[in-house]
Amino acid sequence: MKKQILKTPFLEEIINVCSTIYKLGWAENHAGNLSYRMTAQEVEAYIGKEWGGTRKYNLEKPCSKLGNQFFLVTASGSPFRNVRHDPEVHLGIIHLNEKGSTYEIIWGFRDGRQPTSELPTHLLCHHERLQVDPNNRIVLHCHPTYTIAMTFIHNLEQEAFIKTMWSLNSECVLVFPEGIGLLPWMVCGNGQIGWESAMKMKEFRIVLWPHHGIFACGQSTDQALGLIETVEKAAHVYILTEGKTNQCMTDEQIVELAHAFDLKPREGIIEENK
Ligand SMILES: [Zn+2]
Repeated sequence: MKKQILKTPFLEEIINVCSTIYKLGWAENHAGNLSYRMTAQEVEAYIGKEWGGTRKYNLEKPCSKLGNQFFLVTASGSPFRNVRHDPEVHLGIIHLNEKGSTYEIIWGFRDGRQPTSELPTHLLCHHERLQVDPNNRIVLHCHPTYTIAMTFIHNLEQEAFIKTMWSLNSECVLVFPEGIGLLPWMVCGNGQIGWESAMKMKEFRIVLWPHHGIFACGQSTDQALGLIETVEKAAHVYILTEGKTNQCMTDEQIVELAHAFDLKPREGIIEENK
């Protein structure tokens, strides 16, 4: 390592995001995890060519396009509220081998900690998203309360869910014109849900896990968090109105809005656009 990782801007940014999400109430207990793909400049500036891995693990599903990449990742079982107090325990940096089939811990995860149990999901999401957006940096998972609540009330048909979201606030179609990916309920952790989430990330920057939480990606932590905030605000309004609105934005208004900002809403959601 060339410099003290603890003093770097990207680490400070990740610590702040963890604290912010905790204060928003979206990361209770051990909930919430994130992964940040380091830039080539950050690797050059802070890692250099001389570093030693301490522990090495195989990836069940290799991520060939992530070969030789470095990720800052939250630790398994680490509450977001504690990240700030001891980053070297609750965060770590991993390096993937050339084939993207193994990774080794090169910093952090002190006291025997390991990366989040959702790491396979994170890496698969990065792998797929990078093919759509080569500048994608972050994958972020947390438990926004009203968004989760909405998955108990609204039907879980993806197109209908997107349409409701767009109709609840003018910001929605502007912030996520591509819509939201919605999975059926699945077992979380190291299983099929990771692959299914990654497939959704080819089309969407937001993926909802019903009765559980949200995944968002972006070119920065601000982008990913902004997506979640926008979804959560609309879901909050939906819950406050108990889904019984007398009026909301019409299809025509959604189209008018998108056109005014030169955006193309996802096809197949609203009548004029089908
Ligand atoms: Zn979760």
